[in-house]
Amino acid sequence: MKKAAKYLLALSLFCSGALKKEITRLKKQSCILGIYAHELGAKEFEKYIRWLLRQGFEFISLEEVAGFLEGRYEINGCKIWFSLDDGWRSNLELIPVIEKYNIPLTLFIPTYPVETGYDRDTLEHELTEYLPDKYKENVKLLMEIPEEERWNIDRELYNQAKGKLKRVVITIDELKKLAQHPLVSIGAHTHTHPVLSKCSKVKIKEEIVLNLLKLKGYVNVKPELLALPNGNYNGRVLETILETDIKHIASIENGKILNDNTVLPLPRNGIATASFYENCCRMMDFWYPNTQKIKQELNIKLS
Ligand SMILES: [Zn+2]
Repeated sequence: MKKAAKYLLALSLFCSGALKKEITRLKKQSCILGIYAHELGAKEFEKYIRWLLRQGFEFISLEEVAGFLEGRYEINGCKIWFSLDDGWRSNLELIPVIEKYNIPLTLFIPTYPVETGYDRDTLEHELTEYLPDKYKENVKLLMEIPEEERWNIDRELYNQAKGKLKRVVITIDELKKLAQHPLVSIGAHTHTHPVLSKCSKVKIKEEIVLNLLKLKGYVNVKPELLALPNGNYNGRVLETILETDIKHIASIENGKILNDNTVLPLPRNGIATASFYENCCRMMDFWYPNTQKIKQELNIKLS
């Protein structure tokens, strides 16, 4: 969908009262709306937090989400669970905002990027000249090859990055400080952030065990909830993860977390590079159902 069409659709859902109606409906349910982002400016973050608070939503922590899933924590109405993936340095600027509004925040941390300063995606896009020729034109192809092969390429990029690129991920000391914050919870996100469906069973377990071990060592936490790196998974990946100490798995798929949620992984609605109105619809899991409806109607009319 074109940018202008998306803007108009979001604006109409927002101004027609359709979104408001959906929020009223949501509040009558016992559910959690997971919301996630990567890099988000403090001003933008505050705008969304203020809007969510104005709608009358309460925020819950990672521990409360786990409690809800395990039947130890009861939820009346619809609550918001806000998480940020990958430990971007810019996330540090959001701490004054969560303090101002007393909002719990979950950070899903991959440990190798914290140790080195860079995530694999940034390296692959910033250091394309060091990639084998066939990936120079299409960096995304790297997500489709076996992890072992991709890691051989990325290892060289990590060597090249020193002195060439500015650190984009928080340091170990910053992670330690964040983990001590009473409003911050730390979740698992694997060690090197691979595409899990491209990993062997042994590699998947190694990525999780190492991530948990390192987090225990750095910040003395033992997360039981893992966010899937790149949101990528299949049945084998989920099965393998649950053979480790991880009890709950979160995705980047839209939807609501319900107390009868036997289906894994847990949905989280993403804030995109989009208009404020569109992101409000996205956070309420009200964007995809509407765009899907329009696409279906267009297909019927055009066929
Ligand atoms: Zn990630």
